[in-house]
Amino acid sequence: MSDCLFCNIIAGEIPANKIFEDEWVYAFYDISAQAPHHFLVIPKQHIATLNEATDAALIGKLTLTASKLAKQIGFAEAGYRVVMNCNENGGQTVYHIHLHCLGGRALSWPPG
Ligand code: AMP
Ligand code: ZN
Repeated sequence: MSDCLFCNIIAGEIPANKIFEDEWVYAFYDISAQAPHHFLVIPKQHIATLNEATDAALIGKLTLTASKLAKQIGFAEAGYRVVMNCNENGGQTVYHIHLHCLGGRALSWPPG
């Protein structure tokens, strides 16, 4: 999708601070970090929201990529949060699904 920010990041047309990529997923640091560690894991396939997702294996890969990278970076043992915002009430602003992974500080609950 040429008008999608995250598709353009995957294509290398918009720069990003990439952490990891494989055949299915791409992970990069969030441009507006909300915690000492804050990265996004996205599928290479364009899916606008979680409501359009159908591939359970792909959604699982997003989560397991987040935990793998949290372990590699070194904040997994202390703890972290993974979250996917969906549509307006969920606070979604980029309409290409992305799993946020936040760590490096204590996170409050419930979210705002
Ligand atoms: P959401 O509000 O869940 O849709 O999250 C979108 C996230 O994308 C926000 O946390 C933004 O800071 C982040 N973001 C927007 N543009 C970029 C970019 N060019 N590179 C990295 N992260 C971005
Ligand atoms: Zn996209």
